[in-house]
Amino acid sequence: MSLTLRFFHSFAFLFIFFLSTIPALLVLENEDSTIKTMQDFSGYPVDEPTHSFTLTSLSAPFSVDSQTLQKQIDELSTFSDAPAPAVTRVLYTDKDVLARRYIKNLMGLAGLSVREDAVGNIFGRWDGYEPDLPAVATGSHIDAIPYSGKYDGVVGVLGAIEAINVLKRWAFKPKRSLEIILFTSEEPTRFGISCLGSRLLAGDETLAKALKATVDGQNISFFDAARSAGYARYEDDLSSVFLKKGTYSAFIELHIEQGPILEVEGVAIGIVTAIAAPASIKVDFEGSGGHAGAVLMPNRNDAGLAAVELALAVEKHVLESGSIDTVGTVGILDLHPGAINSIPSKAHMEIDTRDIDEKRRNTVIQKIHQSANTIAKNRRVSLSEFKIVNQDPPALSEKSIIEAMEAASKELNLTNKLMISRAYHDSLFMARISPMGMMFIPCYKGYSHKPEEYASQDDMENGVMVLALTLAKLSMS
Ligand SMILES: [Zn+2]
Repeated sequence: MSLTLRFFHSFAFLFIFFLSTIPALLVLENEDSTIKTMQDFSGYPVDEPTHSFTLTSLSAPFSVDSQTLQKQIDELSTFSDAPAPAVTRVLYTDKDVLARRYIKNLMGLAGLSVREDAVGNIFGRWDGYEPDLPAVATGSHIDAIPYSGKYDGVVGVLGAIEAINVLKRWAFKPKRSLEIILFTSEEPTRFGISCLGSRLLAGDETLAKALKATVDGQNISFFDAARSAGYARYEDDLSSVFLKKGTYSAFIELHIEQGPILEVEGVAIGIVTAIAAPASIKVDFEGSGGHAGAVLMPNRNDAGLAAVELALAVEKHVLESGSIDTVGTVGILDLHPGAINSIPSKAHMEIDTRDIDEKRRNTVIQKIHQSANTIAKNRRVSLSEFKIVNQDPPALSEKSIIEAMEAASKELNLTNKLMISRAYHDSLFMARISPMGMMFIPCYKGYSHKPEEYASQDDMENGVMVLALTLAKLSMS
């Protein structure tokens, strides 16, 4: 045998030996003891692909106790400063504190560990078997504007606690922790700031600073009010409230639609694809006023007429955008001195404009500003203020969360529809730090922010089921 041939033989032998060891190596790989232990511990395969967890993954009943949920909604509505059926629950009032206590108690009964931050955002956590992974969160608010109803926000908090109870009865074990958030002050009633809690969670430093000088209508400071409710005891720095991006792998909010579409079309679940972004503007015109009889028309500079002309210009610019998604409203128009025989010397107006397209909305704002200047010039009044109070960007829902909600609805045989949220919610701000999704259930005639607000037990049950199953899917992904 030549040297070359001998070399080839030994090489071939080594090669065959190596090939024969591959299956053995693969077996060893599969028997990795850490994976096996994890599977034994959890009862689930470790490499569960996204959303493959379904309604049939566990065999215990998957059911909502909608009677108890209704009872809790009715009980919570009694913590109110308005007589039933109206609900008034304003931030940090005695009734708000009692309502918060009620929710914390239910969170405890559901086996959640409860934590509160310096402004009173409340978190109820169910630890997953991989507690170091970013958690999946859900939640909403329980504050209620004066003389409103008992479902706005509340369905997304009490419904979330019931969703956890559904999962527990189903014998579900979460991989990612599940967390319920009760957001502080979604409504702007007391301090004029909407979504105060979620804005801070999303790290709004400007707001954190501004709150140091913020007072309510009775001149009570934000911090005094918070302290009277047991919050912000030691800190005047609210940066402890900020959450890091990546704290949550997903955030979902369940809410009543506050519009008529789902009820009219007979659809059970609305899956939100985008939340329209609001901007609000304060405008002041000043003229010289005068006696309604004595000052002749050519000599007037009527601040009231300037404001009215601008209100019509707002409508015109909104319609010019060409999209049904652009809206604009002049909700406040105050004339000074407000007497029938006096030409208005001052006019104050507040304009709300929204769109799911930020650029388009900002173009509308620019045009409103141009019109305000032109009108002031033509009418010889001064535009003493044109202040953009807030100009929030819109938010898009995360595709994977939309898909999880769609899959959950389908498995539960519930109809669903993709839609836009034209009202904004804490989800708009949670989207800044977490992938976001939102779902709607029908409400009677689309009524909201009034005592007639109503969602049926069946509709709430559907919403809680889809929420629970979606949480399960996202927890396992
Ligand atoms: Zn709400």
